[in-house]
Amino acid sequence: MPKPKQPSLATLAIHGARDAHAHGDAVVEPLVQSVNHLQRPGTAEGLLYTRYGNTPNAARVQKRLALLEGAESCLLLSSGMGATACALLALLRPGDHLLTSQYIYGGTHRLFTEEFVRMGIDVEFVDPWEPRVWRKRIRKETRAIFLETPVNPTCRVLDIRPISFLTKHSGIALVVDSTFASPVNFRPLEHGADVVIHSATKYLNGHHDVLMGAVLGSEPYIEEVLEKEKLWGQTPDPFACWLLERGLKTLDVRVKRANETALELAQWAEKRKDIAKVHYPGLKSHPDHAVAKELLDGFGGMLALELKAGGKAADRLLKRLKLVTHAPSLGGVDTLVSEPRYTSHAKMTSAQRAAIGIPDGFLRFSIGLEDADDLIADLEQALK
Ligand code: PLP
Repeated sequence: MPKPKQPSLATLAIHGARDAHAHGDAVVEPLVQSVNHLQRPGTAEGLLYTRYGNTPNAARVQKRLALLEGAESCLLLSSGMGATACALLALLRPGDHLLTSQYIYGGTHRLFTEEFVRMGIDVEFVDPWEPRVWRKRIRKETRAIFLETPVNPTCRVLDIRPISFLTKHSGIALVVDSTFASPVNFRPLEHGADVVIHSATKYLNGHHDVLMGAVLGSEPYIEEVLEKEKLWGQTPDPFACWLLERGLKTLDVRVKRANETALELAQWAEKRKDIAKVHYPGLKSHPDHAVAKELLDGFGGMLALELKAGGKAADRLLKRLKLVTHAPSLGGVDTLVSEPRYTSHAKMTSAQRAAIGIPDGFLRFSIGLEDADDLIADLEQALK
């Protein structure tokens, strides 16, 4: 018998793991804020407690996210950082070696260099574009490879397929922070990753009003992450899970709209004489355009512009913008702009940043849901 067709991601984001009869007639799933639940005498079964990650609002969203990423299992945590920490603590022991891309979120970088190193975990950073770098650096103590794609803030796209070939062959875990893409644009497990991490604060929730993280992978592995979550106290509150469920319902339309608008802005920016470079994987000029076309279902809502006139011009532009909001974070309905030299890369010198492709005058944009013409008009008046 032919298999019944799986509902598409847009449908799963609304209906996945929903039990239509569980809550009477309510169309919107109720918020169950209770921290604890009645237990049946004489058994540990049915023991629900918020920190155990098994209460109704968390459990439903976890199942739904697993469907969206094509994962066996999912765990929600109280932040993206909590997700990264618990995901890796479940894999690494003192004496283990972690190979990581050097192009990762600043908070993750600090977690590795300030916390993991103190725990006796040997963390080695590599340039993922150096030929055969992963193969050369794997040792017998290596337990995991960690990377982020698309990469913040240059929007470079890594081809994880050859890396996953290597990790499968070596019996180590490939862990991918897929926050920038969201499952609408990229599902790393389909291309050989073992673990996917999200800062759900970003696209998954999408409204700049929830802090949360998610880890996805095999069922036994997620059980291990759950133990870390319980003991390190990284579990989210039911209300945050309820808000995330609400945000997820519009994930597909939000991300597709951001993809379209970001491409329009990138094409507009490419024609301007005062913009030296546009970083967007949807442009033919982007170094990873071919990989992005093969691997991604959409080029994303993140893009970066380099102003010809440098840092002063960037500061001036930020002061003059009326619609685009100058703020950190990304992946929500409001278009945001940030300057990496004051945020993620503040600890580096101007020359160090320039050497990794982030010169002064570099601006990172997270495109929201405003009209593309309005955003372009705002940028045009600010650049005058
Ligand atoms: N991963 C990436 C790619 C991020 O951009 C961030 C935050 O900006 C995080 C992880 C950490 O997530 P959170 O701020 O939800 O802890």
